[in-house]
Amino acid sequence: MSMLDDVKTLLVARDPGQQEFHQAALEVVESVIPVMERNPEFKSERILERILEPERVIMFRVPWVDDRGEVHVNRGFRVEMNSAIGPYKGGLRFHPSVNLGILKFLAFEQVFKNALTTLPIGGGKGGSDFDPKGKSDNEVMRFCQSFMTELSRHIGADTDIPAGDIGVGAREIGYLFGMYKKVTNKFTGVLTGKNTNWGGSLIRPEATGYGAVYFAAEMLATRSESLEGKTCLVSGSGNVAQYTTEKVLDLGGKVVTLSDSSGHVYDPDGIDREKLNYVMQLKNIKRERISKYIEKYTNATYTAHESAADCNAIWDHKADCAFPSATQNEINGKDAQNLLKNGVFLISEGANMPSTPEAVHQFLENKILYGPGKAANAGGVAVSALEMAQNSMRLSWSREEVDTKLKSIMANIHQTALDASDEYDHKGNYVMGANIAGFLKVVNSMIDQGVV
Ligand code: NDP
Repeated sequence: MSMLDDVKTLLVARDPGQQEFHQAALEVVESVIPVMERNPEFKSERILERILEPERVIMFRVPWVDDRGEVHVNRGFRVEMNSAIGPYKGGLRFHPSVNLGILKFLAFEQVFKNALTTLPIGGGKGGSDFDPKGKSDNEVMRFCQSFMTELSRHIGADTDIPAGDIGVGAREIGYLFGMYKKVTNKFTGVLTGKNTNWGGSLIRPEATGYGAVYFAAEMLATRSESLEGKTCLVSGSGNVAQYTTEKVLDLGGKVVTLSDSSGHVYDPDGIDREKLNYVMQLKNIKRERISKYIEKYTNATYTAHESAADCNAIWDHKADCAFPSATQNEINGKDAQNLLKNGVFLISEGANMPSTPEAVHQFLENKILYGPGKAANAGGVAVSALEMAQNSMRLSWSREEVDTKLKSIMANIHQTALDASDEYDHKGNYVMGANIAGFLKVVNSMIDQGVV
């Protein structure tokens, strides 16, 4: 049996039903087969078996009371995947689809992404199947307080530092931090994505979206191109999608789509700054659906998606670049075909694992510029690590300082992935490059630290 088959058998036997985790793990293992062959000690050290098993998984009950006085029970998780190069670091996701398999996939991806940033952070991820949509601020606060009452026992500024992800933005980070401070009696940088009034870093909200666009600009530069004049598809309309759109505009591109789990808007005139401000008000303050966009901008069209999983129509518009920024597996094999047919030659993934293996295969086969999430969206966690550094030093850097550091980190990740792909004779294959570079850093650190 091949190494890949061995790992598949192990994963399915141990954790049947964790398909997303299997998908993420097998992609990495496939990429690192040549590394395993060049380094036979990795096999005797049982590196693959060790890296695939989380160091610790915490699962807990989260009871809370709604505005009508009814009691609800959700499930909370924290997956502490790997601490070889630093304390566990990764976001919290609040979404009804959350389960252990999804969080293990996200935590696993996070390990390599964090290694690529060159900053000293290990990998973790957590969250709950709680759905903040349609809940009042008070309900969200009570949920966050209950969640943190338990989570606070397991995290700490030098142990595990959560942040935001889907469904966890500035409001939720505030409520979580308040409860952490109360139960521990400590004001420390235990969460990132905080408001700048009380320890947050400038540019942290923007970092993932800006970073994905900086990564795209680096890929384009290898073909002496830029974003100037390029038509771009962006999916999602949350944190990553909003700041991706802003940076594409800064660099002279035109964004024609945005979406949420109910449908997508297509605006042939482009979503300019005024329209983006309207979207930010709509999503971040009024917490409305993206369908409202066409009530104000009547030249745009809205296409409803039949289900949250059916978001395919957004990938069937003419464009040059695509920035999937909603969720995992939002681009399937058919969508990839449509993207290629419609002229898209660059994909920079703001979301985590938004492309299925069939889609990735087509991007690589057609040799388009394809930046996988663990490289392209690493800007968010990189600025989170800069937030941790500022918290430890009790100071804050200016917008320009943080943005300059972000830009240089993204350029560095791009070069590292490119160099690693070249070293293994697949120059320009950023999937292999990112997986190999992240893997080597983590694995060599694990070996240095013995069998623990
Ligand atoms: P937000 O919650 O701010 O926004 C998520 C957006 O995606 C919303 O528009 C949401 O629509 C849509 N969406 C969520 N789930 C689905 C689904 N099942 N089908 C279709 N659309 C969906 O999250 P973020 O912008 O923070 O995160 C987006 C992606 O970026 C995720 O994959 C996340 O893991 C990744 N990421 C985020 C980072 C960060 O710093 N925030 C860092 C690195 C990666 P609706 O409102 O209808 O749910």
